[in-house]
Amino acid sequence: MKADFQNTYAALPDPLFVRQAPVPVAQPKGLALNEDLADALGISFDDDWADVVAGNRIPEGADPITQAYAGHQFGHWNPQLGDGRAVLLGEVAGFDIQLKGSGRTPWSRGGDGRAWIGPVLREFIVSEAMHALGVPTTRALAMVETGEKILRDDGLLPGAVLARVAPSHIRVGTFQYFAARQDLDSLAALFEHTADRHFDGTRDPGTVLQAAVERQAALVAQWMGLGFIHGVMNTDNAHVAGITIDYGPCAFMDAFHPMKVFSSIDHGSRYAFANQPGIAAWNMAQFATALLPLMDDRDAAIAQFTDIVHGFSDLFEAAYRQVFCAKLGVANTPDADGLIAQALDMMAEQGADFTTTFAQAEAGFDGTALANHPDFAAWFKAKADLATTVPINPQVIPRNHLVQQAIDAAVAGDLAPFHALWQAGKTPFKRPDDPALTAPPRPQDLVQRTFCGT
Ligand code: AMP
Ligand code: MG
Repeated sequence: MKADFQNTYAALPDPLFVRQAPVPVAQPKGLALNEDLADALGISFDDDWADVVAGNRIPEGADPITQAYAGHQFGHWNPQLGDGRAVLLGEVAGFDIQLKGSGRTPWSRGGDGRAWIGPVLREFIVSEAMHALGVPTTRALAMVETGEKILRDDGLLPGAVLARVAPSHIRVGTFQYFAARQDLDSLAALFEHTADRHFDGTRDPGTVLQAAVERQAALVAQWMGLGFIHGVMNTDNAHVAGITIDYGPCAFMDAFHPMKVFSSIDHGSRYAFANQPGIAAWNMAQFATALLPLMDDRDAAIAQFTDIVHGFSDLFEAAYRQVFCAKLGVANTPDADGLIAQALDMMAEQGADFTTTFAQAEAGFDGTALANHPDFAAWFKAKADLATTVPINPQVIPRNHLVQQAIDAAVAGDLAPFHALWQAGKTPFKRPDDPALTAPPRPQDLVQRTFCGT
């Protein structure tokens, strides 16, 4: 692998990271390489690219580290998390190149530092689809098998590593880590680094917080417009610059229900579909708290930051309206709010498939379960009064059962379903030839639960 590495994070003060090389694996085998992304970053891979992604060979110029962070997990404070199964090789063209599943690190606690092919494949497919759908996200550069089996609840599973690309991996929890330790020097260094990378170099924490809240509101509105459930919106999985990060038990909904949950560990439905905006606002409040030590006048800052965080709901409402008005093809005015809410209520009552219902918006919702609702005709007429634009909706999202089938096939050594799904996800607004890539799951294919990568 040849790339022009910069290692600006590794040049920050010591407490922000620990130097750590990826742990070599038995037998690297390349599964997928995202050549378009590599080209865009100016990375050239040789035939032995799998060795680099597996961590068996460190590319020239890289300075591998693991990053420190903390976080609230399901609302509970954990003062020390950190990259327990990932290393940051360095930055290329301003983007982090991270290996996930790369072995134990000083932050691994009881974990093995590894990932199995299931979550690696899921993150690859879903993050690339999100990118094609126009959602800010980390991306997938490459995926390898390690030739090692790792132990999970389901037994021994094939190990894998994902090479992931991101504008950075700076989380709300990264700020929390230093704020909680009252390590002001590190917090200030992290702040300046983050501001330079993501917030036009401002030195005003209030400006950063305001922009973070705006981006987070827009991001969650985009997720919801796709029926996407992140699944683990812990503060360590909340990127400060409004980028989707850490795809774990995430999923796109099939039949719409506002309280849908997929994650096997989300017992209290904390991260249910409709709870996502409230949780994002809560995460921004934690970000605000972590920025407070940087402010001279604490009381004034508390007042200012409280206002900014309270601004989340209006920002979210506006972003959500914009997303759903585009989906329905109606004018973006507050008058549309009732129409949107009623459409979703009817869909929930009918168990209508989220993606196919909206994909039929242009055709008058022909053949959808929504159209069978007793209130549909009146709603449709009201919508016609506000119609101004052509509805914009994806035909293809990586449906949960297809991701599961791709994982099952990959475990059995067949990558064809993975490639079909990846390919279809590159052009989500185009209907693929194969109807299996767009059809809702048959009852026997339905996936009710998704699992974390651990
Ligand atoms: P996640 O739920 O994937 O966001 O991870 C939460 C924390 O657990 C992070 O600090 C991860 O680095 C760590 N972690 C997750 N899986 C493993 C693993 N297999 N080995 C070591 N650490 C892990
Ligand atoms: Mg995480």
